[in-house]
Amino acid sequence: MKKDGTGIDALRSELKQAATGDADWKSGKLWSLVYNAGDEVMEVQRMAQDIFLSANALSPIAFPSLRRFETEVLQMVAELLGKPDAVGSMTCGGSESVLMAVKTARDFMARDNPEMVLPRSAHPAFHKAAQYFGVKAVPVDLGPDLRVDMKQFRAAVSDRTILVVGSAPTYPHGVVDPIPEIAAIALERKILCHVDACLGGMFLPFMDAAPPFDFRVPGVTSMSCDLHKYGYTARGASTVLYKDRALRRAQFFAHPDYPGGLYSSPTMTGSRPGGPIAAAWAVMRYLGRDGYVKLNKAAMSAAKALQAGVRSIPGMRVLGEPVMSVFAFTSDTIDIYAVCEKMHERGWEVQRQQQPPSAHLLVTPAHGAVVDHFLDDLRAVAKELAGSGPTAEGAAAMYGMLGTTPDRTMVKEFILDFQDGLDA
Ligand SMILES: *Cc1c(COP(=O)(O)O)cnc(C)c1O
Repeated sequence: MKKDGTGIDALRSELKQAATGDADWKSGKLWSLVYNAGDEVMEVQRMAQDIFLSANALSPIAFPSLRRFETEVLQMVAELLGKPDAVGSMTCGGSESVLMAVKTARDFMARDNPEMVLPRSAHPAFHKAAQYFGVKAVPVDLGPDLRVDMKQFRAAVSDRTILVVGSAPTYPHGVVDPIPEIAAIALERKILCHVDACLGGMFLPFMDAAPPFDFRVPGVTSMSCDLHKYGYTARGASTVLYKDRALRRAQFFAHPDYPGGLYSSPTMTGSRPGGPIAAAWAVMRYLGRDGYVKLNKAAMSAAKALQAGVRSIPGMRVLGEPVMSVFAFTSDTIDIYAVCEKMHERGWEVQRQQQPPSAHLLVTPAHGAVVDHFLDDLRAVAKELAGSGPTAEGAAAMYGMLGTTPDRTMVKEFILDFQDGLDA
């Protein structure tokens, strides 16, 4: 740290300068990470964040405002997910919501050597939870439609299973797992069923038709639903909901013997930033149901146009049958990682996926304006690379190589080295 402080004007320009090196999400060039609903919604986020910037939801007594916002946000989400009397907590993101759901299942079920059965496409947060909380993850392969294979799923369930998991939709392919069949297992075995709707919880309810995925499906006991994704709220807001209070109680932490006073906390974090909670409340009130329907229709029509465009390119295909505005595409005749690289050279940041190699598009309302430009570039790139695929084993692209290297321990060490080296 420097001895002298820095002036606010100098800092402002340094901050702005630093941001110029980041991904250009405002122009629609980035196809992940940021869910852009336009300037007006951002203005609402900013206003609420500003007023509650320093507020701390750790104390519902000191900040009754945040307690009310959190309660009302959770009520809105519970209604959307088909169970107005569901209860939950706000968390700082989807991963924390998933962590809480797994910890809750562990403590509520209280069985020895607990296991959870989940699709291979489930979010890594479940494996993080497995590692943190000592619940063994039992992953199940996907079927040809990229939804989890139910025959293998049933075979993976045992007396040690405390939790079964499905996604609505999965992040990699945007398909909704067979939730009624997964939840039926939970009902039959008197265990818990979590539906990870981090991605779809604020999208599927606003569609004309969506596959069954929420609390209305018999056997579903908990759900995670992100607000900072298709809820278009400020980064740092998600929800985890339970079918009843008894289940949620197993989530809470209490420590009565702290010299600092009686202590309790609902989620992973201690201090809980007020800004994202207030911003979530404000954006949801600002948009209302009509606002979400409109925004998601815009995202959906952009996604449909992109899918049609991809399908019209010789050799390219969309993976599975994506339900909403998130999907992956690949090719049997063109190297898809090379496509991503060439698109990158043209300024598009398209995520590469593995098993199988594919390109991932997360489409938001702001992408509507760039659909034609994107498809023009994609067509040109596909033409340039015609006959280069399919993506080979041990492909030149580093990510490609990692995707196909059979030694996963080596790959894991490589990723950890990367993480470790970020500040070196
Ligand atoms: C994004 C996502 C998560 C994790 O959410 P974070 O906010 O990134 O922690 C979990 N599950 C699914 C399906 C997701 O799309």
